[in-house]
Amino acid sequence: MNVVSPVTIGIDLGGSKCAGVLLDDTGQVVASSRTVTPVGADAVIAVMVDAFGELAAQAQSLGHTVLGAGVGVPGLVTKAGSLRYAPHLFGVLEVPLRDLMIEKFKSLYPHDIVVVVENDNTAAAWAEHVCGAGQGRDEMVYVGFGTGIGGAAVMGGRLLRGKHGFAGELGHFTIDRDGPKCVCGRYGCWEVYASGNGLGRLAGRPGIEITDGAAKGDEEALAVLKKFSVYVADGLADLVAIFDPEMIVLGGGVLSRSEPLLSMVRDALPIALGDAGDHRVMPTVLAARLGPQAGAIGAALLARP
Ligand SMILES: [Zn+2]
Repeated sequence: MNVVSPVTIGIDLGGSKCAGVLLDDTGQVVASSRTVTPVGADAVIAVMVDAFGELAAQAQSLGHTVLGAGVGVPGLVTKAGSLRYAPHLFGVLEVPLRDLMIEKFKSLYPHDIVVVVENDNTAAAWAEHVCGAGQGRDEMVYVGFGTGIGGAAVMGGRLLRGKHGFAGELGHFTIDRDGPKCVCGRYGCWEVYASGNGLGRLAGRPGIEITDGAAKGDEEALAVLKKFSVYVADGLADLVAIFDPEMIVLGGGVLSRSEPLLSMVRDALPIALGDAGDHRVMPTVLAARLGPQAGAIGAALLARP
């Protein structure tokens, strides 16, 4: 008889796309899905339910038993799985997501499964820690540079969640209180300067033109990227001061499109740390390894019973 492994489903809802994976117990992605993120709470929930249904059906056709489902969402998620605040998802606020998902998933897959809801970057951090660039590193910080900035710290091999689950809002500490308003309502957050949107603001044109130009060796794009890398390094230096990590893993769309940026950030970090930089043990700075599926893989890992 053909023996098949149990699986968990991971769904990562981003600001622009919704990625899903079916993850087996060895950490292999055995099936995946990808759709565009719509606007509005009901449409967003429907897309995640569709992704679950599609992956659960695939699991069934492959002979796998689904043990759990994890959902990663961009925003403040309580430990009970309630999405309190999501500035990058227009119209989504105070949604008891886990309760809703349990109900909806049950109608599609009527067996007992674990359902967890987690912040998307927290899930990605866990994935990079368990099976990505941060594997075996118990003191690591993951920073995801996308439209905004998110992340999480793993300390002592455990995700740092805080009292309520809101820890790791790494994009929202103040770099310049006289700076522009952030989506979170504060002024001059690191995210305003060092995210994909921040790169676009600095360049005065879409950030992707800069990363693409720099990859082709365009001098002007490289100069903008160099300036941008200092903003990135400034925030990372703050994170080093706070967490003293052994490794920093950089993920998200901005980093994945730009190899020159990674080396610029590595050069800028010791300078950003000031005099203390000479006396610290510099963390290893690596690019994330799991790519755009990191959040979904992390959500699936967190849903393992
Ligand atoms: Zn902010």
